[in-house]
Amino acid sequence: MKQDLKKETRRIWSSLAGEIKHLFGEMWKTPELSAMEYRSSALLCDFIERNGFSVDKGVGGVPTSFIARISNGVGPKVGFLIEYDALPGLYNDAVPFRQGNRRLPGHGCGHNHIGPANTGAGIAAAKALVELNLGGEIVLIGCPAEEILWGKLALQAAGIFDGLDVILTSHGDYQNGALARPCHAMAMGEFKFEGESAHGGISTAPNALEAAEAAYAKFDQVTSSISGLQLKHVFRHAGISPGVTPEEVRLWTSLRHPDFEGVRQGYQLMQETFSWVAAERGVAIQPEQIAICRGYLGNDTVGRVLDGSLKEVGPPRWTVADIDWMRQLSAACSPGKPFKLHSEIGYFDSGIDYYGQDDGDISWQVPLGRVNWAYPENVPIHHWAWTALSGHSASSPGPLMASEALALAATTLIQSPQIVLAAQAELAQKIKGQSIRKPSPTISDVLVRNPQSFWDATWER
Ligand SMILES: [Zn+2]
Repeated sequence: MKQDLKKETRRIWSSLAGEIKHLFGEMWKTPELSAMEYRSSALLCDFIERNGFSVDKGVGGVPTSFIARISNGVGPKVGFLIEYDALPGLYNDAVPFRQGNRRLPGHGCGHNHIGPANTGAGIAAAKALVELNLGGEIVLIGCPAEEILWGKLALQAAGIFDGLDVILTSHGDYQNGALARPCHAMAMGEFKFEGESAHGGISTAPNALEAAEAAYAKFDQVTSSISGLQLKHVFRHAGISPGVTPEEVRLWTSLRHPDFEGVRQGYQLMQETFSWVAAERGVAIQPEQIAICRGYLGNDTVGRVLDGSLKEVGPPRWTVADIDWMRQLSAACSPGKPFKLHSEIGYFDSGIDYYGQDDGDISWQVPLGRVNWAYPENVPIHHWAWTALSGHSASSPGPLMASEALALAATTLIQSPQIVLAAQAELAQKIKGQSIRKPSPTISDVLVRNPQSFWDATWER
C-alpha cells in the first residue's frame, strides 16, 4: 500500500508538472504588489478549479486570499501555504544582465514559483487522497502580501489556520533540502510625520522631513542598546520642493532580530524614540504597525518526512544549458567570482537563517515544514538577478523538485497519523505551554480597503 501511494502520488504530480511549469512563466509575467495580487490569485484559483476542486475567494477578510478544502473522511488535515506577490522596483527581463524598466514590480523573491509549485503539490496530494480513498484533508491556502509580512498575520488573526494538523511550504534559497532551523523575527511599521508647510527660506515652521530624519538618526544611534537588532528604512514621501517646508513625511522601517523579544523591544523603543523627537520639534506623528512576527520554529519530525520525500524525488534536474545560463547571470552579479550552485539534497537544522517570513507565528501554532531549492550563490535574493532567473526556464527544476516532494510528503503524512501526532508533540514540547497571541497589525483596514493608497503612500485613516 505504501509503495502504491508513493507511486500514485508521483504519477498524478507528473501529469500536472507541465501546467505547474507553464504557470511559473504566466505568474512571472504579471508581477503584482502585496495585497493587490488580483490576476496572480485568479490564475491559481483557476488552476485548482480546472482540476475539479472548489475555491472560496477573499477569505479571512483579505481580498486576494483564497482557500480550497478537499476532504475525504476522517484523518490528518494538511495545509499548503501558497504565495504569489512581487516586489517593487525589481523588474528585469529574463536575461542574464540588468535590463528592463526598474520602476516596475518584479518577482525578485520567486513567489511566481511558490504559487504554482505549492498549489500543484496540493492538487496532486488531494487527487491521490480521493483516488486511493485515504482519510484526511488537503487545504490549499492562498496567502497574499508576504513581502510586507502582512498576509499570513491577517489570515491567522481571522482563524484560517485553526484546526490544521500540519502545514507545508517551499521557497527558493541557496540550498536544496528540508529546513528545521530558525529564521529571524521581524517587525515593520510606517510612521507619518506631520509638520506645517511654509516658504523654505525663512520659515521656522515645524519641518516634517527634518523631524523624520532626526528621529531616524536618533533611533539608529540607540539600536546598539539591543544587541543583534538590524534596522532598514525608506522615506516614501519626503516633500516635493526644497522651496516648501515639507508638511508630511512617511518613513517605513523594518526591524529584524534572532529573537521575537528583541524585535518587540526594538519596535517599542523605535516608536518611543520617534515620538519623542517629533514632539521636541513640534511635529505630530502617526504610527502604523504593518507586522510583527516570530521567526520560524523548525519541526524536525515534519522536516524528516520532507527530507525522505526530497531524497526520493532527487535534486533539481538542471540541463547543461540551464547551468550555462545561470553561470552567465552569476558572472553578471559578481564578476570574477567562482560559480557555486548546491546540487545535492541536504538537511538543514543548525544555525539560523538570515531572513524573516510572515509564517513565523504559524509555525508556533501548527507544525510547519519548509523545503528550499537552490539558486546560484552569487545571485542575491530581492535583487534584479533573482527576478531575471525566476522568469527563465533555467530556474524551473528547483521548484519542480520542491513541488513533487511536498506532494509526496503530504500523502505520507496523511497515511501516517502517528507522525502527525509526533510533530504536534514536538511543537508542544518546544513552545512549553506558551500560547501564541494572535497578531493584529493596525494597518489591516488600509490594506483591505485601499491597498493602492498604501503603495502610493497616500493612505489616510
Ligand atoms: Zn519570499
